[in-house]
Amino acid sequence: MQLDSRSKRRSLSMRALVFLCAQLTCVNAYSEQSAVISVYHHVSTSTPASTSLSPEAFRAHLRFLAENDFTVLPVTEIIGELNRGGELPNKLVAITFDDGYESIYSTAFPLLQEFGFPFTVFISTGPIDRQQKGYMTWEQLALLRDAGVIIGNHGTEHKSMLEQSLDQARADIRNAQSRITAELGPQPHLFAYPYGEYSNASKQLIAELGYIGFAQSSGATGPTTDQTALPRFPLAGIYAGLEGAALKYSTLAFDAEMRAPESAETSLSAPSATIRFGVGAYSRARIACFDEGDPMKIAWKGTAEGSDEATITTTQRERGRRWNYVCTAPHRDQNRYFWFSQPWFDSSKPL
Ligand SMILES: [Zn+2]
Repeated sequence: MQLDSRSKRRSLSMRALVFLCAQLTCVNAYSEQSAVISVYHHVSTSTPASTSLSPEAFRAHLRFLAENDFTVLPVTEIIGELNRGGELPNKLVAITFDDGYESIYSTAFPLLQEFGFPFTVFISTGPIDRQQKGYMTWEQLALLRDAGVIIGNHGTEHKSMLEQSLDQARADIRNAQSRITAELGPQPHLFAYPYGEYSNASKQLIAELGYIGFAQSSGATGPTTDQTALPRFPLAGIYAGLEGAALKYSTLAFDAEMRAPESAETSLSAPSATIRFGVGAYSRARIACFDEGDPMKIAWKGTAEGSDEATITTTQRERGRRWNYVCTAPHRDQNRYFWFSQPWFDSSKPL
């Protein structure tokens, strides 16, 4: 991102303000450096509903972003700017797609071109090499690349990180990247976990291989977000409606992280979690956490004002292989929510 001299000065003064306030423990100076990354799969009415939205629904999302002064940037620019400590635009979004389906080329691409929005496509190279029905061809991907689309790595065979050894995962990721490089030339090292599933060891692996990792759990990205598993809002199926998409595109990064347990992998159906909540433009009393829509109990260690850690608990229920706890808090002055989610993976359940 190119910063003009005025925004550079603004960025410097913002940092100075944050520094001054840190000395005075001024909580209002928390700088809301935040971006929302969305993930789509199919833009079609003839593909599986849970991973699809109609062209009309997709157009409505893009129109919402255009008409409400959102800035849409490539994920690489957002991450670069976050890492440089620069000042991000107030309403910032990156659009991504997983798998490399045909409707991205035929339907989503022309719409995104019409709005002038950049995007990233994470591909699994195996189905594309086999010219599997429903996937883009390398020729179509080359046309996307020529239009400035970033092509990221989604593995060779779309295997979950929890279903292969680290050596297998390393080979699968490297092979996918060499196929991408051979067909399209060098692309940034971005990796989207198949099914959104990862272990601590696989996060470490992708960091070692020099990748930024992308998950599929909801939430916005800020300076403290784990870049080995960046949250992305899936906006398909029951989440494709404009009202929900508008709410999610407007969320802010919640400076929160799970302290215990140490891993998102679990065999429990109701794990409790200890979450650290950082300082922000919200009231601790208004933090709410949800387990599949149901409110969870929040117990602060000490008083809410004096503590930055809370344990969130839920009740036993039937679980599939993946689920999330979501914590939100309304912004003190803006009509937006801070949003954090913690995914859980139980690999003993079927994919
Ligand atoms: Zn996928």
